[in-house]
Amino acid sequence: MTEFVFREEPYAKSIEAQVVEVNDRGGIVLDRTIFYANSGGQPGDTGVFEVPGGSRIEIATTIHPGDKTEIVHVPAEGQELPAAGDTVVANLDWDRRHRLMRMHTALHLLSVVFPFPVTGGSIGEDKGRLDFDMPEVPDDKDALEARLNEMIAADHPVTSEWITEEELDANPDMVKTMQVKPPRGQGRVRLIRIGSGPEPVDLQPCGGTHVASTGEIGPVRIGKIEKKGRQNRRVSLHFAEE
Ligand SMILES: [Zn+2]
Repeated sequence: MTEFVFREEPYAKSIEAQVVEVNDRGGIVLDRTIFYANSGGQPGDTGVFEVPGGSRIEIATTIHPGDKTEIVHVPAEGQELPAAGDTVVANLDWDRRHRLMRMHTALHLLSVVFPFPVTGGSIGEDKGRLDFDMPEVPDDKDALEARLNEMIAADHPVTSEWITEEELDANPDMVKTMQVKPPRGQGRVRLIRIGSGPEPVDLQPCGGTHVASTGEIGPVRIGKIEKKGRQNRRVSLHFAEE
């Protein structure tokens, strides 16, 4: 089992860790990692491992095989591999990851502005999208975008907490995402809370990485709203200034 350090320390850019295993396809498993593995619409992290002797291993992506208790770092083609027991320094491609964190957090707020069940989603460095079970396209896109940017500018804190699976089952409305189920199985579920007041701006189960406060997202622009099936509408979101 890998220790998921990015959950408590999403701003860690570098970490020293030990190689537990190099699998038969060259994937590297560490005892702990700050690299987020592709899941829930957020792509896996990239970066560079420094190994003893000074060589560098480029990590092309990071994945979760099987039961999601383990994280596998996938090197780019033709890289020299470490051995089990080696100590490596794992360095994130932080600029990319920070953009993903900003976009990911922005999508939580998008789900507040569009209060419909979420049927899918995807997070990219430049844009993200959510699919909603939303029969009609709203005709006040500018007002929705303004509301979204107000929530961002209000600089609400973003925090995480854990509840038991029983507590989640007692509050099914908390789950907005119909297809991406929150990570379960260890008896507890991680929640992401936006806002510090008695009524949170948003509160939902999520295993991803987020910025510490909404102001860090920066201004955003709602892009196309496309029809994807009878009930489904796909809403794209972009950073406004980049
Ligand atoms: Zn999230």
